[in-house]
Parts: sequence; C-alpha cells; structure tokens
Amino acid sequence: NEDQFKRVISHAKEYGYIFGSSEIYDGLSAVYDYGQQGVELKNNIREYWWRSMVYMHQNIVGIDAAILMHPTTWKASGHVDAFNDPLIDNKDSKKRYRADVLIEDHAEKLEVKAQKEIAKAKKRFGDAFDEAQFVSTHPRVIKYREQKQEILDRMARLLESEDLAGVKALIEELEIADPISGSKNWTEVRQFNLMFGTKLGASAESATDLYLRPETAQGIFVNFLNVQKTGRMKIPFGIAQTGKAFRNEIVARQFIFRMREFEQMEMQFFVRPGEEMKWYEYWKETRLKWHLSLGLGKENYRFHDHEKLAHYANAATDIEFDFPFGFKELEGIHSRTDFDLKAHEEFSGKKLQFFDPELNESYVPYVVETSIGLDRMFLAILSKSLQEETLEDGSVRTVLKLPAILAPVKAAVLPLVKKDGLPEIAQKIIEELQWDYNVIYDEKDAVGRRYRRQDAAGTPFCITVDHQSKEDGTVTLRNRDTMDQQRISIEDVAKHLSKSMAY
Ligand code: ATP
Repeated sequence: NEDQFKRVISHAKEYGYIFGSSEIYDGLSAVYDYGQQGVELKNNIREYWWRSMVYMHQNIVGIDAAILMHPTTWKASGHVDAFNDPLIDNKDSKKRYRADVLIEDHAEKLEVKAQKEIAKAKKRFGDAFDEAQFVSTHPRVIKYREQKQEILDRMARLLESEDLAGVKALIEELEIADPISGSKNWTEVRQFNLMFGTKLGASAESATDLYLRPETAQGIFVNFLNVQKTGRMKIPFGIAQTGKAFRNEIVARQFIFRMREFEQMEMQFFVRPGEEMKWYEYWKETRLKWHLSLGLGKENYRFHDHEKLAHYANAATDIEFDFPFGFKELEGIHSRTDFDLKAHEEFSGKKLQFFDPELNESYVPYVVETSIGLDRMFLAILSKSLQEETLEDGSVRTVLKLPAILAPVKAAVLPLVKKDGLPEIAQKIIEELQWDYNVIYDEKDAVGRRYRRQDAAGTPFCITVDHQSKEDGTVTLRNRDTMDQQRISIEDVAKHLSKSMAY
C-alpha cells in the first residue's frame, strides 16, 4: 500500500495532475499546484458536487463569500480561542512536532508489532489460517492492541481537559524520542493557533489584523439572513459554497491529504430546532449515496460516528475512505445546533432569526453541515483509479480508471496515419465535440502506444479515424476500461459519449 501511494504521487506528477508548489525553488511544504490534467479533474469533482447539492435540491442555493472576513467572525466562531494544535520542540535537534502526532505514531508502533505477529502466523499456518480467530485469542496481539488503545485514550482525555503538562508527562513516560536525533530532551507543550494571519491596510500603525479563513462555513453563517430574505427561502433550506481555506498545519504529510492551502465544499442546512436529527440522518444517507454513485466500490467507505463531540455539535460523523495509508476522514457531517448563528448574534448585535409562518414564531435555526475537502476527494479518486493490469500477452498496462464523468479529457481523437486526409477528418470530429466535451487530438507514435498513453492519462475513450472512415463515415470507439473497440458512425460519437456520462 505504501508502494501504491508512491505510485499515485509519481503518476500525478508524470501526467500533469499535481506538482509541488514553486518547485524550481525546491517547493513549499504542504502546498501543491494542479497541472493541466489536475485542474480539469478538480473542476469536474467540484461541479459534480455542486450539481448534486444545488441543482438537485430545490431548497439549496449557492454563494461565493470572500476569503477575507471581518476579524470578529473568528472570535465568534471560536477559532481565535480554540483552533489549536499542541506543539512540542526537541531541545537538541530544535525540531518541532505536534505532540499528539508523536504519541499517535508511538501507539501505531504497537499496531505494527501486532501486524508482525499476524504475518508470522499466516506464514506458519498457510491456508488454514483464520485471522479473525487469531487476533481475538493470541495473547501478544491482544496485549499490543490494548496498550495502543490505552495510550490513545489517555491522550484524548488529556487534550480534552487541556492538560498540556500531562501531555508532556505522557511523552516522557512512554520515552518517546525525537525520530530524527533520538533525543528525549523535550520542551513544554504549548498550543499553537492554526490560522494564517495577514494585514489589511498600508501603514503599519493603522493596519488591521485579519485571518485567511480556516473554513468556508462562516461565510455562509454571516450571510444567512441575506440569502434567506433575498432568495425568499423557507426553512428547511441550505446554502452551499466551495472555496479555498487555509490552515497552518504543523504536521503536513500524506501529499494532498493535508495541505496548508486547500479547498472545501460545504453546505449548511438550516432547520427547525428539534428536527435536526432527522436531517442529520438524511444528510448522512444522501452524502454516502453521492460517494457510491461514482462507483469506486462500497467497501472503500465507512462511517465513523464521533463519541466525543465538539462544543458546538450534538451529533457528528465522518465518512472515511480507504486511502493508500488506511481509512481516514474524507467528509464530515455535523449537527451544529444553533451555536454559530447564536454566537454571531451575540458578537454582532444583529438578530439572525427566521420567522416561521407555520409556527407563527421566530427562532434561530439549527444547522446540519456537510463538509468535504475537494483535494481529499481528488486523492481518494486518483488513488483508487490508478491500476496496473496484466494483459493476456503478459504485458502490464497502467490505466487510470477515473469515472468518465470526472475524467479531465473525455476522448482523444486519433488519425491512424498522418496523411491521406485522416488528420482532417479527425479535426472535424474535434470541432464538433469540443462544444460539449474536452477532447484532444493526438497523431504522434503508433496507435497502440497512443492508446496506452490515454489509458494512463485517464481518458475514457479514443476515437480512431482510419481509411474506412473516408469511405463510410465510421470510426473506431475504444473503451479505456474494457479495451473493447466498436465501429460506429461519426454522427453517433456524441451520443455514445453522453450516454456514458449521464448524471
Ligand atoms: P482533520 O481531522 O483531518 O484535520 P478536520 O476534522 O479538521 O480534519 P474539518 O474542519 O471538519 O476537518 O474540515 C472538513 C473537511 O475539510 C475534512 O473532512 C477534510 O476533507 C478537509 N480538510 C480539512 N483540513 C484539511 C487540510 N489541511 N488539507 C486538505 N483537506 C482538509
């Protein structure tokens, strides 16, 4: 799986999906640029989300709020006081770490030990090996896993009670060493705010301190009444938004899974107080269906319901995805009560209420939120789509089986040879298709090699123009996933593409 992850990263670069930011200056850590293919895939994911949220729900509308917001927004939301990571420095190496990640990594070593026991037994017992039975009875495996859980639970309790001295004591007790220098000489643990600061205004004295937004949700909350009034919205209704968010993540690992500048796709659904659990269940189901509609495989998703809830939530779950490094959060669904709107009422002195004509009363609505990282969704799709297949003749084909509706280029039009009028026919097909689809022309190399190039780039169809095309107006339509080739009339090409990409 680590190999698969490495393959995904290098494939993303080789085929123009993702580059490190400002690479010629050796890059900027945890910041990435999307290349010519990547921008298309990202736009298509965003549009797929937007359509399903905004166009498919008559009571959801979109907005596009600014990244910069009035600084009081972040006091009201709690980000100034509580959006922190616990940091610790090693006095010898001068390296800085997230204290919770050091502890998690330490706990993970116990899982590695358990896995080693399992692998050993597997080898010994061969086909007769019953893994479920083994892990539930083998004393060492049980012990490792219990120890791991105990460490994680202790850490969670310490962080919850903001006992930073306790976190340091735990690091010392576990004898955790700096992974680079091996030193155990640690500083105190302190909280570090994840928001990026910036300044508004030219002169040093009059400049106002601002933050780059760490989430898009607050742009929706502060516009709640604007949208409700001008859109004549009735509860329940939703506001959707996609856009950049910024977090000064300390441990930036795992490629585009955790970035410092990333994009969110969020929807806040405003409901009657008391009806939030019904809508929470509705959105859990609806969002999972959206994921499953892409066909990456049901087994790759699971819910992780939160037992410990943030101060503003009365229910929360993550949709986790099986990334190359294991199941991790892809999307969050949170029942946020009236926490945010109430806080903005308090800090702004403005009422943020809805008059409900059926109940004949005004109230601050409750909110159910769905929040997904666009870049994480990109990584999820890319990592499951990248496959290596051994063909009948023993050769290996690299194919990027992106869902056709999300693929950057929908079809490559290929003249079999660069003469006899075939390029001209190919160009004409492109001129027709490009009104509706992103299509490209490719005439370089033998046609077999061109197919392989498009397979690896993720293009679902190749349209090949040959001498017969001149005579009877037909072309070959080649399917990336099945490698089937079908002779169809040029007039039917658009119909075939649209059928495979229906929403
Ligand atoms: P995590 O626990 O992984 O840090 P979170 O719980 O802080 O995530 P939320 O604040 O709920 O995340 O943000 C909603 C979504 O935004 C997440 O589900 C994730 O897909 C995405 N996201 C959050 N932080 C990042 C990041 N640094 N880089 C990329 N995507 C992110």
